[in-house]
Amino acid sequence: MIGHGSGGRMMHELIENVFISIFDDPLLTLQDDSAVMDPVTGNLAFTTDSYVVQPLFFPGGDIGKLAVCGTVNDLAAAGAKPLYLSAAFIIEEGMETETLIKVVRSMADAAREAGVRIVCGDTKVVGKGQCDQLFITTSGVGEVVNAIVPLVCGKNISHGDRVILSGTIGDHGMAVLAARNDLNVKDMIESDCAPLNSMVQPLLDMMLPVKFMRDPTRGGLAATLCEIVNNRQFGILIDEEAIPINKSVRGMCELFGFDPLYVANEGKMVIVVPDEICDEALNIIRRSEYGKRAAVIGTIEEKNPGMVIARTIIGGKRIITMPAGEQLPRIC
Ligand code: MG
Repeated sequence: MIGHGSGGRMMHELIENVFISIFDDPLLTLQDDSAVMDPVTGNLAFTTDSYVVQPLFFPGGDIGKLAVCGTVNDLAAAGAKPLYLSAAFIIEEGMETETLIKVVRSMADAAREAGVRIVCGDTKVVGKGQCDQLFITTSGVGEVVNAIVPLVCGKNISHGDRVILSGTIGDHGMAVLAARNDLNVKDMIESDCAPLNSMVQPLLDMMLPVKFMRDPTRGGLAATLCEIVNNRQFGILIDEEAIPINKSVRGMCELFGFDPLYVANEGKMVIVVPDEICDEALNIIRRSEYGKRAAVIGTIEEKNPGMVIARTIIGGKRIITMPAGEQLPRIC
């Protein structure tokens, strides 16, 4: 059980025996005040995120895997190869050390898969009730290697471009909701939480002129599409029928009254590409284990600037608006 006051011997042991030994990185082992890394040639991408998901473990992942994948995916979306992560832990006194070890192991596994190094970190223990078990903040640095079109803000997006979605939506949000309510759907609904750098990097390495990437996390696919058109001279027309959704996720959304377009994902990417390279890009994404169900879901249009319009399954049209607030708090 964790009850380590700040700076004492117990904290020292926790850092040595849990974080340093499991993350097992030469820079972290040095325990210097800063990790000093080799210089890189490309532009640097830098991102940070905090993770407060509740419960800590859910089908398909846990807070540790989420903390690594979320930051890796934000770097990948910028066209950057993830290089280094920092990890800061705020732990509630009384948390089982075994639980922490499970989370840290899962982070190490995800980092290994993504090929990113955890090189610095921090740990604070707070009193009972002052945080909920465990909060993690990860920051990440990556190198932009091969993006031939600047991806920042999607400023090169133009009419006729196509919108690719790398797979099914809503899996993460519904997996967390299922875990929270102890629903017995574990075999049917799993979080999609995954590091996507190996899926998108080949697009850039092939020198394809990808125009924009974003991982549709909180607020779901709807929020990401609305962000793309916000204050721009174009709109997006999406085809709802083309959006891949797992049957069980659709069923659970119906049961709980959620629109899957607004449910969070943690292992998906929205990619905007010129029409000419759309098929090639789709094929490359589908080669990845995480992109097997990738689909073209829409087109950038001159019509309806600033708006996202969905052609519905029954043939009508509906406007997709930015979600007003979070429909499911603490899902990441
Ligand atoms: Mg993101």
